[in-house]
Amino acid sequence: MIPGPFSYHRPKTINEAAALLAQFGDEARVLAGGQSLIPMMKLRLAAPEHLIDLAAIGDLRKVERAGDTLLIGAMATQAELIASKVVADTVPIVREASLLVADPQVRYIGTLGGNLANGDPGNDMPAVMMCLDASYRLAGQSGTRTVKSRDFYQGTYVTALKPGEILTAVEIPVPLAGHGYAYEKLKRKIGDYATAAAGVVLTVRGGKVATCTIALSNLADKALLAKDAAAAVIGTALDKAALDAAAKAARAIMSPASDTRGTAEYRTFVGGVMVQRALANAFARAKG
Ligand SMILES: Cc1cc2nc3c(=O)[nH]c(=O)nc-3n(C[C@H](O)[C@H](O)[C@H](O)COP(=O)(O)OP(=O)(O)OC[C@H]3O[C@@H](n4cnc5c(N)ncnc54)[C@H](O)[C@@H]3O)c2cc1C
Repeated sequence: MIPGPFSYHRPKTINEAAALLAQFGDEARVLAGGQSLIPMMKLRLAAPEHLIDLAAIGDLRKVERAGDTLLIGAMATQAELIASKVVADTVPIVREASLLVADPQVRYIGTLGGNLANGDPGNDMPAVMMCLDASYRLAGQSGTRTVKSRDFYQGTYVTALKPGEILTAVEIPVPLAGHGYAYEKLKRKIGDYATAAAGVVLTVRGGKVATCTIALSNLADKALLAKDAAAAVIGTALDKAALDAAAKAARAIMSPASDTRGTAEYRTFVGGVMVQRALANAFARAKG
């Protein structure tokens, strides 16, 4: 299958890209790795007349720590995140989840920004960013703004991105050293989207959970922050009662579709299991 005809633009700066987006309006789409957009164009589910490729904008590839914040440029690929020492040292959940995205071929080209801006509930990185309380830097012709990952997702392919805006970078507050983390993903085979997945970032003090965030992938029409599930384990030593309470609270907010990955009931059940596994893994990894 071949996409419909389109014009290709390769701006060198964010301003140039924003100007092109403003010029072509609804007829233009940003192109990052193309690993979601090009398949949609081949299926004629998307038919932009203009593709604005961000690949030549060098500023969008940086991965660097600035004080207590890790800044990741939107065009950093999943493979670059996996290879990054600063990512492994400061936010190892990003590396763990990146290794579970698609397959190596897709990860060499697919970008963090594309994964986050896409708005597909099957994308893995939105839940990871919600666990970490990351914020997204957005730029357009009318200026720049920052939106919290937790406020960004509104529904399937619906996000807080306004027409003409580009996601330029992600700001991640660096979690405490010794924090526990895990991203657990059930999938049918390598390269598949999640049947159900859960991310956890927590800290432990005196053998008990001191802080905890939990987020879910592909268990609703958008990534979900499971606040009640996290509250259920804080102050506990993560015994069976706490794990069961967390799974119950997480299942209560899930609303997955029945699809080729399983019925809604099955996916909700295994979603709770992913939450329990991620909690147990994160707790075992935490120091404190
Ligand atoms: C076989 C296969 C398996 C996959 N499995 C998984 C999986 O298990 N988990 C997972 O998370 N993903 C999976 N994916 C999707 C993959 O991770 C994509 O790379 C990702 O969804 C989109 O990133 P991209 O850089 O390719 O973006 P593109 O496809 O180029 O863009 C995706 C969308 O985001 C917009 N966009 C891109 N970048 C920006 C930006 N900086 N600012 C504003 N808008 C932007 C585009 O206009 C487009 O609408 C899979 C893909 C394939 C082909």
